[in-house]
Amino acid sequence: MTGSTKYIFVTGGVTSSLGKGIISASLAKLLQARGFTVTIQKLDPYINVDPGTLNPYEHGECFVTEDGAETDLDLGHYERFLDVPTSKANNVTTGRIYQNVISKERRGEYLGKTVQVIPHITDEIKAHIQALGRKGIYDFVITEVGGTVGDIESLPYIEAIRQLKWAKGKDCLTIHLTLLPYLGTTGELKTKPTQHSVKELLSLGVQPDVLVCRTEHPMQKGMKEKIALFCNVDAEAVIESRDAETIYDVPLMMQQERLDEVVLRKLGVTTFPDADLDAWKDFLRRYKEPKGEVHIGLVGKYVELKDAYKSIKEALEHAGAANELKVHIKWVHSEKLTAKNVTKHLSGLSGILVAPGFGHRGIEGKIEAIKYARENKVPFLGICLGMQCAVIEFGRNVLGYTDANSTEMNADTTHPVIAMMEEQKAIADKGGTMRLGAYACKLEEGSMARAVYGKRDISERHRHRYEFNNAYLKSYEKAGMVASGINPQGKLVEIVEIKGHPWFIGVQFHPEYRSTVAKPHPLFIAFVKAAMGLGVRETARAEA
Ligand code: GLN
Repeated sequence: MTGSTKYIFVTGGVTSSLGKGIISASLAKLLQARGFTVTIQKLDPYINVDPGTLNPYEHGECFVTEDGAETDLDLGHYERFLDVPTSKANNVTTGRIYQNVISKERRGEYLGKTVQVIPHITDEIKAHIQALGRKGIYDFVITEVGGTVGDIESLPYIEAIRQLKWAKGKDCLTIHLTLLPYLGTTGELKTKPTQHSVKELLSLGVQPDVLVCRTEHPMQKGMKEKIALFCNVDAEAVIESRDAETIYDVPLMMQQERLDEVVLRKLGVTTFPDADLDAWKDFLRRYKEPKGEVHIGLVGKYVELKDAYKSIKEALEHAGAANELKVHIKWVHSEKLTAKNVTKHLSGLSGILVAPGFGHRGIEGKIEAIKYARENKVPFLGICLGMQCAVIEFGRNVLGYTDANSTEMNADTTHPVIAMMEEQKAIADKGGTMRLGAYACKLEEGSMARAVYGKRDISERHRHRYEFNNAYLKSYEKAGMVASGINPQGKLVEIVEIKGHPWFIGVQFHPEYRSTVAKPHPLFIAFVKAAMGLGVRETARAEA
């Protein structure tokens, strides 16, 4: 598209959790399908510098970008929908904004001025929004503002949007996402909370251009016109967003409501190609019309909180679609698994995935699950801590190192098979100090990993402090657990696998961050395929 980058802001009203991330990603997908370049950014109004130090109970999964930023999980949706990597610039928190402003103040960059929320904080916010546009590669920058309009902490963001809209005029547009609650007693959807929420936004000087209304039921006749009249928006810019069967249906639902067309016209883009969503529709078909099913156990300590493993869940779904299989995930609480009950919890599953994590809680259960998968030859995928636990399990039960452990869990173990990286030892700060982001990995000729990826050189994203302790490598390889992926610079073990096991792979990195609708991850595809294979064998055995 010729001309300057256009900025689209997505705010939320009435309640949180309305799915601004999915609406933003869906609009971006529709624009991308028409041949435009788009990126999505999330502004988070909390004071943590990034979500890396946040407990998953607080904020769900922490997503990691190629350049090693620890970010909000919405960036995962953006990447999965668009298949374009995001970066540090795509997630900004109030903490980061203030950190930058305070550092500038300490360096004397404000030349003696009193540093204030307006203009200094708002200028810093505007600079972060426009930094993506200035790259000159995007036709559209979609900026999602976390939280709900009216929150004290989001005020500077709304003010920054007001200023940008004022300065950029037709190059900016605001979409406000609201809820139409359904009153069961009268059988009606109500528009009043939407009206109030728009009033709140108006009181801050921002007139929304488009309203996306989340609703459980179809909007009644005349409702769009009523909302339009009370909120000063065009009726065609009142978009109905019904609850979807899956998040991957939302782009098509938004296309039906012409969200992208309304947005383009309002931004002064009058001619545009038709959307090419063939690949997306093909994915949806495979996803929704599976030819078989497979049951995978996901062992972790946050299983009551599915958002903690968001990218893993989505990567399994993508891999399921790639194999035309429905993947049923059995969420298995690692703290509840013991040697006694492990068979009861895991029998019948045709694949076991042990999740990443930090700290001691639940690791003994993870180790039991791995022992079960190893001994019963159930396909196994261990991710990060899941891989480390596989190394511990093998140390304890095959090599006879009875107290083998990671020094994260037991600093005094006589067999520190997983140990802290040298460069980590002097670091005291917890935020942003792990081995983060994309690192190269070389796959061993003849290994299972090499067959899975179909090439020698790969790159995957990391987020950890501890590593396989190379002092033990020889003993492990002799006993059958081999290092099949190595980081060429640091000689760090990135992948382990067990010879003679049908499918047992542990990876120090996080393949789930790289799985998208357009490109499901090869490790997940192969894992689901292996699980299906075992399922078929078991059925054949049962029938024989
Ligand atoms: N706690 C482990 C480490 O820091 C694993 C981290 C993870 O699973 N992401 O190395």
